Amino acid sequence: MNQTGTSASKDRAKVCSRLAPFGTTIFAEMSALALETKSVNLGQGFPEDPGPELLRQVAIEAIQEGDNQYPPGPGVPQLLEAVAAHQEAEYGLVYDPATEVLATAGATEAVAAAVLGLCEPGDEVLMLEPSYDSYGAVVAMAGAIRVPVRLSYDGDRWVLPAGALAAAATGRSRLLLLNSPHNPTGKVLSRAELEEVADVCRRHDLIAVTDEVYEHLVYDGRRHVPLATLEGMRERTVTVSSAGKSFSVTGWKVGWACASPELLAGVRAAKQFLTYVTPAPLQRAAAAGLRATHELVGPLVDELQSNRDLLAKGLAAVGFPVRAAEGTYFLTVDISEMTNEDAATFCRQLPHRCGVVAVPCSVFYADPAAGSHLVRFSFCKLRSSIEEAVERLGRLGAGGQW
Ligand SMILES: *Cc1c(COP(=O)(O)O)cnc(C)c1O
Repeated sequence: MNQTGTSASKDRAKVCSRLAPFGTTIFAEMSALALETKSVNLGQGFPEDPGPELLRQVAIEAIQEGDNQYPPGPGVPQLLEAVAAHQEAEYGLVYDPATEVLATAGATEAVAAAVLGLCEPGDEVLMLEPSYDSYGAVVAMAGAIRVPVRLSYDGDRWVLPAGALAAAATGRSRLLLLNSPHNPTGKVLSRAELEEVADVCRRHDLIAVTDEVYEHLVYDGRRHVPLATLEGMRERTVTVSSAGKSFSVTGWKVGWACASPELLAGVRAAKQFLTYVTPAPLQRAAAAGLRATHELVGPLVDELQSNRDLLAKGLAAVGFPVRAAEGTYFLTVDISEMTNEDAATFCRQLPHRCGVVAVPCSVFYADPAAGSHLVRFSFCKLRSSIEEAVERLGRLGAGGQW
C-alpha cells in the first residue's frame, strides 16, 4: 500500500523496513479528506447511527458499577460464555468458553495475534485478494510471506477461480487467512468454494484463520457458513469475529477468537503481549449484544440490504458498472470504461470534484495495479447520505466530468 503514504511525512518517517511499504492506511487518509472537503463519506465502513441502546446502556452501567480494572487475560467470563453460546446456537459449533474462546481488541488483533503466534518467519500465508488491508501488514510484521490468491469477476459475481488456491499452496504454506463475507467485494463464498478451501487446508495441513466479522450481514436470504463447520476443519481453524460490525459499534474494538486449546495457545501467546486485555465494560456490553443477536441483527440486515439496493441502483443510474454485493457493508464498481484515471487518483479527486469519498481498491492488492480499475463504496450509512452522494455523483456525471 505504498501509494497511500503522504510523501511529506514519508521523507522524515523512521519506519522499519518491514512496515515502510504500507504507509498510512487509506481509511485515515480518506476520512480526513472527507472532513476537509465536507464530503459525504462512503469510504470508511462505519455506520452513522449511535449504535444499539442496549449495548450503550450496558457499557455505561458497567463503568458506573466500577468494572474499570484489568479483566481476566482470556476475557470477561460473560463474553466468553456468550460467544460460545452464539457459536453453538447459530452454527452448531461447540467451544468450551474456559479454554477455547479468547477475547481480543477487535477482530484485527485476533487476526494479528493468530499470524504472529502461529507462523514462523518465512512461512507462507495464503489470502484471498483483494484483501483487508491489515492482513498484508501483519504478515510482514511476522516476517512471513504473503501469497495472494485472486478473486475474479465473472460478469455476474465475484468468484474464487477453481483450482487457484490449490495452485498457490506449497510445502512452505502454513496458514490460510480467509475472509467471508468478504471486504471489499461484498462476496459471500459459496458452499462449493468453501469445500475447495477446506480441501486445500486438509491436504496441505494448513491452519485456517477465518475473519467472519460480517457473519450476520448477508443479504437476499443467505446464511453464513463458517469454515469450521466443514468436515475436519474445526480442529484446524481459528474462527474470528467481533462486535463492531454485527452491532454497529466499530469504535469499540471488541473481538474474539474460537479454536482448539492447542491453536488458541498460539493466539493467546501473542495477544497477551500486544494489548494484554480488552476493555472490561465493553466486553460486558458486547456479551449483552450477543445474547440479543437476533433482535439486533434482524432490523440491521433489512436496513443494510435496502441501503445496498439504493446505492447500487443510484450508482448504476449515473453510469457506474456496479458489481453486486451479497453481504458486508460494501460494493465495488469498475471505473475503467468511465475514466483513464486509476482508482487512487479518481478517489483522491472525487471529494474535490463533487464532495463524495470512496476508497480505491488498489490498496487491497499486493500489486496496486491489479486493483487500479476498482472503487469501493460503503452503504452502512444513513439513507440521506447515500441519496446525497448519488445526487452529487449524478451532477458530476451529467457534466461529463468523470
Ligand atoms: C472492519 C473489519 C475488521 C475490523 O474488525 P475490528 O473488530 O474493528 O478489529 C476486520 N476484518 C474485516 C474484513 C473488516 O472489514
